[in-house]
Amino acid sequence: MSLAIDEEFLTQTLIDLVQIDSRNPSLTPDGPGEAAVGKYIANTLAGLGLDVVTHTLGPDRVNVVGILRGTGGGRSLLLNGHMDTVGVEGMAEPFSGTIRDSRLYGRGSQDMKGSLGAMIAAMKALVDAKTPLAGDVMITVVADEEYLSDGTADIVKHYTADAAIVTEPTDLAIGRAHRGFMWYEVETTGRAAHGSRYDEGIDANIRMGRFLAELDKLEQALRQRSPHPLTGPPSLHAPIIKGGTETSTYSARCVLQVERRTSPGESSPQVTQELQDIIDKLAGEDPTFKATVRLVTERPPFEIEADADIVRAVEMASTRLLGEAPRHAGLPFWSDAALLSAAGIDTILLGPTGHGLHAAEEWVDLSSVLDLAHILADTCINFSGPR
Ligand SMILES: [Zn+2]
Repeated sequence: MSLAIDEEFLTQTLIDLVQIDSRNPSLTPDGPGEAAVGKYIANTLAGLGLDVVTHTLGPDRVNVVGILRGTGGGRSLLLNGHMDTVGVEGMAEPFSGTIRDSRLYGRGSQDMKGSLGAMIAAMKALVDAKTPLAGDVMITVVADEEYLSDGTADIVKHYTADAAIVTEPTDLAIGRAHRGFMWYEVETTGRAAHGSRYDEGIDANIRMGRFLAELDKLEQALRQRSPHPLTGPPSLHAPIIKGGTETSTYSARCVLQVERRTSPGESSPQVTQELQDIIDKLAGEDPTFKATVRLVTERPPFEIEADADIVRAVEMASTRLLGEAPRHAGLPFWSDAALLSAAGIDTILLGPTGHGLHAAEEWVDLSSVLDLAHILADTCINFSGPR
């Protein structure tokens, strides 16, 4: 069985969502946050008959959770999407919601209000069908994914489920993996002295140069490692370096930021040790080489097995709708799927087609949004359906 989607409702909901500005204030200082769009979604879900709870995370920052209660004994499914968007610099029509050639334009249309519209329309389809599910279906629309993921970090404190679908854009492929990232600070310590006093000064900047030369070798070695089949190899880069105070003084301190992108299966102790090994090698060669490495931020990588039940349930729904099995994909970006997965919930990503994430022109393909709504509704039946 395939459930009917109210297409008019879906399109209007999506237009309304894009027309409500929800730029993340942590990224753009005049961004209004998620309060207004959250209120719209809470009202819409309550209108459909779901149990709705709004969690306030801070001024104008909210998560909204809608629960369609099952009759009991079935598996629960959580649909997750973020309400915040990035900024609108250079955009001609950031909040128009204009439709041309089956594309809906505006900031957040693909990332990810198209997905929110599809999730809400899928809930309406389940309600309209009057076929009670055995398990609960939860829709969690969250704040702050574009910055620190405070929204989903809060969701996993209050809710759990047997499986989750994060509806970030995937061109309707099943997103089964993405890389994680770690931010490090490496500091070399020297000794300040007048620029003429080579006998007293120890140059922290030149010592950081030695570290960078070794880091360059590690960077090349990472990409020789056997790549993860879905995400490719791990990688690193050195985005920021700061050292020294003035021209005629030996630099006493140099600080380097390193971003390391991690493959599924890599962990911070191992990655930290790779950087510590460079420091130990250089210190062994020269006792005046002094450096430390510190892990500043860590976001885990994400992966789910190809034969997980939630993968199967989505494959079944997607194949029935589109006539062929969906592609399994690794995604270039980090997502909230990693947080849900780390909380013990079997998670995949599945979202629409579009263009211009974080760019000056953004659109979502409306037919892929409709397909997504169908696949989500049918997956709810497959996974949490009547016993
Ligand atoms: Zn997104």
